[in-house]
Amino acid sequence: MSEFRALLQGYDRFRAGRYETERRRWESLATGQSPPVMIIGCCDSRVDPATIFDTEPGQAFILRNVANLVPPCEPDGGLHGVSSALEFAVTKLGVRHIVVMGHGACGGVAAALGGHGDPDRTFIDRWIGLLDPAVERVRASGTDDPQHALELEGVKTSLHNLRTFPFVAEREARGEIELHGCHFAIAEGRLWELDEASGRFHAVGEPDLDHAGAKE
Ligand SMILES: [Zn+2]
Repeated sequence: MSEFRALLQGYDRFRAGRYETERRRWESLATGQSPPVMIIGCCDSRVDPATIFDTEPGQAFILRNVANLVPPCEPDGGLHGVSSALEFAVTKLGVRHIVVMGHGACGGVAAALGGHGDPDRTFIDRWIGLLDPAVERVRASGTDDPQHALELEGVKTSLHNLRTFPFVAEREARGEIELHGCHFAIAEGRLWELDEASGRFHAVGEPDLDHAGAKE
């Protein structure tokens, strides 16, 4: 119960603080949203995109799920929460950037590496099965840090799957939308950005930093 009280105390601070000083912004936002950016991150409590990117309300349309995964486009009549959020962001809101952000010490990635047994067993098992091809690539690479390697491969997997949605691929081809991959290292508070041409991640704002620095 006290944990919920802590949330309400936070709400009190918001009402008396940020809401009060930014009341005009909230009144304006009530008339509609037009965020320029969609961020796809992990549910993990440590990696809130609004905190990491210090965004303002209305700036980023944020979708979070286990291991920041985007499934491939499957117009099969199923219930697709990620795909519907993506469709809304791209075709209705007209976001101009989609950012996929992985992170260090990701439990979903660890589960994928640990093997997930019967694919019919749990929701998580089936969901992280999206990483199976990436797991195979990581294992084949012989890396001594498969957790970190799979966190990075997972970002690439989501970017690949984003492009299986025609409304994303078409807009990217026309230069109307840009896709970005990132990885956030928790302890260091450091963001790494994917250079898709080389497949490597570079520390944002720290060009000389060694790639291995992203390890948790
Ligand atoms: Zn995670």
